[in-house]
Amino acid sequence: MAGLLAGIAAAAWLWFLALGRARGPVKRLALRATLLVVIGALVAVAAHKGLLTRTSVGFRIALLMALLTVAVGYLYMTRFCGSCGRMVRNLKPPTCSRCGAWLPIHGMTTRVRRPGDDRRWDPLEKRPRPAPPRDTAPRA
Ligand SMILES: [Zn+2]
Repeated sequence: MAGLLAGIAAAAWLWFLALGRARGPVKRLALRATLLVVIGALVAVAAHKGLLTRTSVGFRIALLMALLTVAVGYLYMTRFCGSCGRMVRNLKPPTCSRCGAWLPIHGMTTRVRRPGDDRRWDPLEKRPRPAPPRDTAPRA
């Protein structure tokens, strides 16, 4: 029963990460925390199985590097819409498929792809502060 509840909680959390409505930066922090927990769990399991204590230092480093590479790659590939928080695990679409807002260039930045001939995001130009996000409803 506890396992079922944990599974439901994990599914709900993943659903929130993928589709829940929250600001993009909030979701990115949540994704990073989730990855840290997952990596911590993997390392704990590996340690429990003796994978980290009975093997060479080189193997341990290689294992940790592999985990870090996967985590960083995942963070890079996973973008969140800054407006509605939709998760986009594909670097190709320039805009959010749910609300149409411009998406960040990649998952490690909040800078959005410059929208074609719209020059708002030219870093050499003084630009007005971006408009506040449209969803001002209180977050859960
Ligand atoms: Zn959106």
